[in-house]
Amino acid sequence: MKIGIMGGTFDPVHIGHLLLGEFAYEDFGLDEVWFLPNGNPPHKETADTETALDHRIEMIRKAIEGVPYFRLNLYEADASRHSYTYQTMQAFNHMYPEHEFFFILGADSLFSIEQWRYFREIFPTCTILAAMRDDKDADEMRRQIRYLSDAYGARIRLLQAPLLEISSTAIRDRASRNLGVRYMVPDPVAEYIKNNHLYKDKTDRS
Ligand code: ATP
Ligand code: MG
Repeated sequence: MKIGIMGGTFDPVHIGHLLLGEFAYEDFGLDEVWFLPNGNPPHKETADTETALDHRIEMIRKAIEGVPYFRLNLYEADASRHSYTYQTMQAFNHMYPEHEFFFILGADSLFSIEQWRYFREIFPTCTILAAMRDDKDADEMRRQIRYLSDAYGARIRLLQAPLLEISSTAIRDRASRNLGVRYMVPDPVAEYIKNNHLYKDKTDRS
């Protein structure tokens, strides 16, 4: 099967993530998209606790409920250790030799990937599907794709999804100011954030 991997902190999952998964699924004929929450992201200084991880996982569950080809994968969901993408993708290739993997990411990740631990090891494990985000236009994306392909033999395709100026940071910021986040996240996720009083008094979590 062709499996899309949507890795992230998902703090919280939002419609930007879901739309990327959906377009990758449709446009690249994937069989499944696995949402892979990172337990303890090496590149982010968050006040992560087991509880916070549980909340992030529960919100993904709610967001993808009823979509048979969206799956939650808990391989990296361990708050006590750092997970590195190259290790996870090597493990997935080893565990599922019958699958072909497509790693889905946004422009910010595509432009910072050379800072990831052993990033060169990622490229043989998957095809990267890269979506535009923020101020990166299609020309800049194509230049970066060409550069990474030439320099490292990376296989990268442009994922053309609608540009959504939405981030978990902006959602946390709104929630911390008692503003609603409806339509930025699926309704059950907005309710979950409200009912669990998430992101209150946590203004500096980016
Ligand atoms: P934060 O603001 O906390 O960094 P985020 O919205 O960037 O959260 P992440 O969990 O960091 O979400 O992102 C996971 C992946 O999804 C990354 O590769 C990121 O580039 C991509 N992504 C997230 N939101 C968007 C978006 N609106 N458009 C395109 N890609 C996105
Ligand atoms: Mg991010």
